[in-house]
Amino acid sequence: MTDAAAEAGSVALKQAYVGVDIGGTNTVIGIFDHSRQLLKKKSIPTLLPHLPKSTDLPATFFDLLRDEIFLLAQEADCSDGLALCGMGVPGIVDPVRGRAEAASNLGWFGVPFAEQMSSRLGVSVCIDNDVRIYALGEVIAGAGHGYRNVLCLTVGTGIAAAIFADGRIVMGGDYFAGEIGHDPVDGAVGVCICGRQGCVESIVSAKGISRMAREAVERDDVSTSLRSLNQVPTAFDVYTAATEGDVVAQGIFRYVGEVLGSKLLTAVCLLNPDAVIIGGGVAEAGELLLGPIRDKIDERYVNAKKPAILKAKLGDSAGLIGAVSFAQQHYRAERKECET
Ligand SMILES: [Zn+2]
Repeated sequence: MTDAAAEAGSVALKQAYVGVDIGGTNTVIGIFDHSRQLLKKKSIPTLLPHLPKSTDLPATFFDLLRDEIFLLAQEADCSDGLALCGMGVPGIVDPVRGRAEAASNLGWFGVPFAEQMSSRLGVSVCIDNDVRIYALGEVIAGAGHGYRNVLCLTVGTGIAAAIFADGRIVMGGDYFAGEIGHDPVDGAVGVCICGRQGCVESIVSAKGISRMAREAVERDDVSTSLRSLNQVPTAFDVYTAATEGDVVAQGIFRYVGEVLGSKLLTAVCLLNPDAVIIGGGVAEAGELLLGPIRDKIDERYVNAKKPAILKAKLGDSAGLIGAVSFAQQHYRAERKECET
């Protein structure tokens, strides 16, 4: 036997542990080994076929996802096939039945997601809400590592939260826990996508920041560098202007942080978390956002020990690590049930 052949013979067969993070625009697939080391990652567009009825299955998307997973597992040299698969799905998700109950951005209502993907992949597929999955990733391997009581928020296009109490994720009776986007803010008048006025999401989100910047630019009595952009400022434009000393842009971030801090103060009083983690695109603003949140909580939270207010650490890997961890936990729990 040649050295090369001997070496090839000694290579153990490798199984793929699959994590998938489905977003409104892109879907990210991660292939891990059994110890959750990321081997390969790929982002694909969340291409959705036109669905005549909201109850129709997005079969084309399921087929595309299956093909991409198998291809990526092959590229990661996982010659022993797939071991398991976990997925984060936006909207209201029933993780017990594996159903996407209401992902309005994607037009999915009552879709038996886990069953459909499991039959295509030939392994167990577990799904949960994308923010709970993201939070699990941050708690296992990111900013929340070592904490048992954690509030985790994502602030991007919209806003959502996940809650860990005594080390366990809180789902709520209808898996609706953490859906704080449409909680009203006193005195706020911005129109939200839900049609109501003054929702948290109409302020604490990329689109809320953009809207407030546009309103500032439209006022003749406001002096801001954002006006020179000659387009509606994005949240990133506002962030850039704030870091360059624009007082109006800094004021927008302070207001956003204070609104979020006020909402979080109530949650902190109710749950007594060790840490509050803020992730998502808007959290990239760092202390511009986190500072006012911390100030608001420190100012009124009477407990001597304040929660740590932390920026998420893992970026888009949080959703992948969370998804694969969720599937592993599910798999272990199922095995335990079989053994007893
Ligand atoms: Zn709303």
